[in-house]
Amino acid sequence: MAIPVLLFFLTSTSRPERNEMSNVESDLIVTDLCKEYVTAAGSLTVLKGVNLTLHGGDALAVTGPSGSGKSSLLFVLGGLERPSQGSVRLRGRDVFAANETELAAWRQQSVGFVFQEHHLLPQCTVLENVLIPRLAGPGTTAEDVTRATKLLDRVGLQQRIEHRPAQLSGGERQRVAVCRALINQPALLLADEPTGNLDRENADSIGSLLLELSRDVGSVLICVTHSADLAARFPRRAELRDGVLTPIT
Ligand code: ADP
Ligand code: MG
Repeated sequence: MAIPVLLFFLTSTSRPERNEMSNVESDLIVTDLCKEYVTAAGSLTVLKGVNLTLHGGDALAVTGPSGSGKSSLLFVLGGLERPSQGSVRLRGRDVFAANETELAAWRQQSVGFVFQEHHLLPQCTVLENVLIPRLAGPGTTAEDVTRATKLLDRVGLQQRIEHRPAQLSGGERQRVAVCRALINQPALLLADEPTGNLDRENADSIGSLLLELSRDVGSVLICVTHSADLAARFPRRAELRDGVLTPIT
């Protein structure tokens, strides 16, 4: 799964325009989503007809056993993998009708990703790391820097903006990763076991930040987690088992 992760950070194409209407029409509509991996060892169907509708500001926790397809689901929803069947619509746009270049531009503009590993660039400062999604074009603006600084302020890292990732704790690094995921005010914020490497206190704080900040921006938040505590804090929950997503009521 390392390749899609790298792809996410490396395939920036055009500079995204910020969407000031980010809390408007932020619906995610997923219809009959299927994903089959074809390998030399044969084919493996990991998503078997996933249906899902979420509105801007909604937050869904996805739980499920290891190998049930949770990461695959996020990778397809975030446009890192194409589905074998079915569609994803975000804010009225049919995501996979796009060619690869358009898809990369859409991903850059519309999706924020937080992984279990922070994937911060070690040679860049905290502030620079948050600004990475804004670097695809001619350079960052003063407005970008203000927004990044505000986000870092919000997560309690105002005193750390010139630090390098190696000078931060694990919880602080993950807070930087959350800010980086939100800098473009994404319509869709995806988190894949974002608290998996953190202790209880830091996990709680990252969970709160994801919920609060995604609501502020009007993003749809989907968070895969093994933590029952974290899942319990989400207004919507679903379990993925053997490629089938079932709401938990
Ligand atoms: P989870 O995140 O729930 O642990 P994954 O989505 O990572 O599950 O994987 C679901 C299944 O798909 C696993 O059996 C995994 O080995 C397989 N898988 C994941 N990615 C690929 C791939 N690129 N090619 C082939 N099989 C894959
Ligand atoms: Mg996974």
